[in-house]
Amino acid sequence: MKRIGVVTAGGDAPGMNAAIRSIVRTAIFNELEVVGVERGYAGLIEEKIHSLDIRSVSGIINHGGTILRTARCEEIKTEKGIQKAVHTLKNYKIDGLIVIGGDGSFRGASELYEASGIPVIGVPATIDNDVAGTDTTIGFDTAVNTALFTIDRIRDTATSHERVFVVEVMGRKRGFLALAVGFAEGAEFILVPEIKLDVESICKKLEQGRKKGKTSEIIVMAEGVGDSSLIAEEIRKRTGYDVRLTILGHALRGGPPTAHSRILANQFGALAVELLLKGAKKKMVGIRGQKLTWVDLDYSWKQKKDLNQHLYRLAEILSS
Ligand code: ATP
Repeated sequence: MKRIGVVTAGGDAPGMNAAIRSIVRTAIFNELEVVGVERGYAGLIEEKIHSLDIRSVSGIINHGGTILRTARCEEIKTEKGIQKAVHTLKNYKIDGLIVIGGDGSFRGASELYEASGIPVIGVPATIDNDVAGTDTTIGFDTAVNTALFTIDRIRDTATSHERVFVVEVMGRKRGFLALAVGFAEGAEFILVPEIKLDVESICKKLEQGRKKGKTSEIIVMAEGVGDSSLIAEEIRKRTGYDVRLTILGHALRGGPPTAHSRILANQFGALAVELLLKGAKKKMVGIRGQKLTWVDLDYSWKQKKDLNQHLYRLAEILSS
């Protein structure tokens, strides 16, 4: 192994830059050359490759986003796209590729390995935390804290005006972010795609809560649950309460990574390089409890990660 490549694909997540820095510096420490691929898999297809040295990753550990930039790339899902990417990997003499991203990125990585035989290692980085084989992902903790920062302020208003606030967070298919945010915020309701809750029962519980002395409520919902403005309007109509909606959306993707996201990125990046040096072919790095680990790359996207139902039930009890 002489030269490795690094690419960030999928949605950006705070801590991706810290992971790039860790990969570059660990690789150079081990006398490897490193090249960066620009704009996700599009850069592999279009041969947008440049070398990365120690100084090229200075001053980025505290920055959100990704210096390599990222893009959704449909062409890599085609046979022709894969062949172009494999050609680039061979043309630039890339002996191993580290892909920083989510489950979609790892599907692409897996196909690249099958087509080229060039080892690929996944580094899970997504604010959704929807990747199997790791308890948490780079960026998740930051997104949770960013949401809490805003909802704490919304709660002040909710209390003063005796309002119900529906707060929508990202999560098209999975509710890991909504659950963690709702649990940490002490939200009255947490709406996730995995667990069905109808508006009627939400309204009933809201009314019961008011009878018991509650005067304001926070409802955290994942965007995948449905149209948040319709849900807020329906609650307002049925209960007559003052209901407001805040959509946090893309604000949760950016900003400086928390200590947790940076520490994870530093460790994941270094482990990914070490795995390549040890001859691993197709793995994803992860963490279980406090222990760094790795799994077969395919496990990360073939296996469905379970939502923590215990946490969900506990959130219900604690918000009564
Ligand atoms: P996030 O969920 O945080 O946005 P992700 O990695 O899951 O991260 P996706 O948009 O699903 O984000 O995937 C990222 C990129 O991976 C896609 O733009 C595409 O280039 C590639 N990709 C996704 N699915 C496949 C697939 N089935 N085959 C090949 N490549 C894929």
